[in-house]
Amino acid sequence: APPGSSETVRQVKLDKECELRVEVGPNFPLRLRMLSGTAEIFGTEIPPEIWLNFPPGLKFAVFTWHGATIEMDGTTETDYTADETPMISYVNVHAVLDARRNRAKASPSDSDASQGPRVIVVGPTDSGKSTLSRMLLSWAAKQGWKPTFVDLDIGQGTITIPGCIAATPIELPIDPVEGIPLDMPLVYFHGHVTPSANVELYKVLVKELAQVLERQFAGNVESRAAGMVVNTMGWIEGVGYELLLHAIDTFNATVVLVLGQEKLWSMLRDVLKSKANVDVVKLQKSGGVVSRNAKVRQKARGSRIREYFYGPANDLSPHSNVASFSDLSIYRIGGGPQAPRSALPVGAEPASDRLRVTPVSVNQDLHHLVLAVSFAKEPEEILSSNVAGFIWVTDINFESKKITYLAPSAGSLPGKYLIVGNLTWCE
Ligand code: ATP
Repeated sequence: APPGSSETVRQVKLDKECELRVEVGPNFPLRLRMLSGTAEIFGTEIPPEIWLNFPPGLKFAVFTWHGATIEMDGTTETDYTADETPMISYVNVHAVLDARRNRAKASPSDSDASQGPRVIVVGPTDSGKSTLSRMLLSWAAKQGWKPTFVDLDIGQGTITIPGCIAATPIELPIDPVEGIPLDMPLVYFHGHVTPSANVELYKVLVKELAQVLERQFAGNVESRAAGMVVNTMGWIEGVGYELLLHAIDTFNATVVLVLGQEKLWSMLRDVLKSKANVDVVKLQKSGGVVSRNAKVRQKARGSRIREYFYGPANDLSPHSNVASFSDLSIYRIGGGPQAPRSALPVGAEPASDRLRVTPVSVNQDLHHLVLAVSFAKEPEEILSSNVAGFIWVTDINFESKKITYLAPSAGSLPGKYLIVGNLTWCE
C-alpha cells in the first residue's frame, strides 16, 4: 500500500545499541520519523519529528546508542531489529582516528606530524565497505572535521556515476537519502565498470587523483589534519589484490581497515609489516549488509546514472542537445586494436597501447553510451585530466550528421574533448 494509508503506519521501539534494518519495498517510497530518543543512519543523526522519505529499494539501518522510538509509514521488503552489530568496534576506530586528527592539528608546521589519518577500507564485495566509509566520514564531519572521501570503486560509484574514481571533501554528515552533495568533486573517468577492462589506465588515474590530493593537502592544513577515507572495490584476488596494494601505496595509507575477511587481513598484515607507520586492522562485517547479485548491481549502476541527470528526487531537468558530428572531438583511451603479443619485440610490454589516446569518429556504437567531458585543453592532456561531467548519446543521425545527447544543462559543454569507454545506460 502507498504511504498514508492508516494500516501502513507503525511504531518500532529500539533498545540501546540496537538497529532497525530496512529494505524499502520495490514500488513505493517509505516514510520514517523519530518520535523519541536519538538514532542515526550510517553515522548521520536523524532529526526529531521530521518525516524522511526513502526511495523504493533503498537498504539502510537506523541505529541507536541510547534507545529510540521510530515511526514508519509504508510497506517494506523486510524490516527487523538486530541487537548484534559491530557498531562499537566501528566507533572505536573513529575515536582513534579522531585522536590522530587532533594530534595532527596540534602541529600544523611539521609536514609529517600535521598529516591526519589516511584510512583505506578494503574487503570482499558486500562486506559493507561503502557503509563503513560513510559512517567514519559522517562521524568526523559531525565533530567539525572536513575529511576527504576518495572512492576507487568504479563498479558502483558513491560520489559520482560508475566508471569513475573520485574524491570530495565531506563537510557535513552525509544525508541518508540524498547521499553526497555533488558540488565539484574531483573525478577521473575510466569508462568501464571494472578495472580489468584496462588495469594500466586504472592505475594511472589513481596516481593522478592521489597527486592532486597531495597538492591540495600541502596547501590546506585543515583538510590535511582531517585526512582521508578511501573506499575500494570488492575485487581482492589476483590483479584486484595488486590494485589494493597499489592504492595503499599511492595514497600513503596509514590505516588499513579490513572488513569481513581473515585471509585478506593476514596477507595485508604480512606485506605491510615492514611499514612501521601503517596499521592493519581487522573488523567484523555487519550482519545487516545486503548481498547484491550481478543483476541488482547492474540496476544500481543504472540508477546512479539516472540520478546524475535527473537528480536523486527527480528534481533536475537535463537538457537534450543536438550537435554536428564535426563539433565533437571524441577520444578513446587504450581502445585501439591490441597488438598481439607475438607481434611485439621480445620483452616489450603492450601496456603502452592501453594508455594510447585515439580519436574516434562518430559511429553507431556510441548510441546509449555515457561520455565524459574532459577538462583537457589538448588531446595530449586527456589521460591526466579530470572530467567536468557527462553526456549520454540518445540519437545519431547519419544523414544530417547530427548527434543528440542528454546533458545536465543546455548550452555549450564545459570542455572540448569527450572521452568514451564502454559505459552504457538505457533509461
Ligand atoms: P561493494 O563491494 O559492492 O562496494 P560494499 O562492501 O561497499 O559493497 P555496502 O555498499 O556498504 O557494501 O553495503 C551493501 C548494501 O547493504 C547497501 O545497500 C547498504 O545500504 C546495505 N547495508 C549495509 N549495512 C547495513 C545494515 N546494517 N543494515 C541494513 N542494510 C545495510
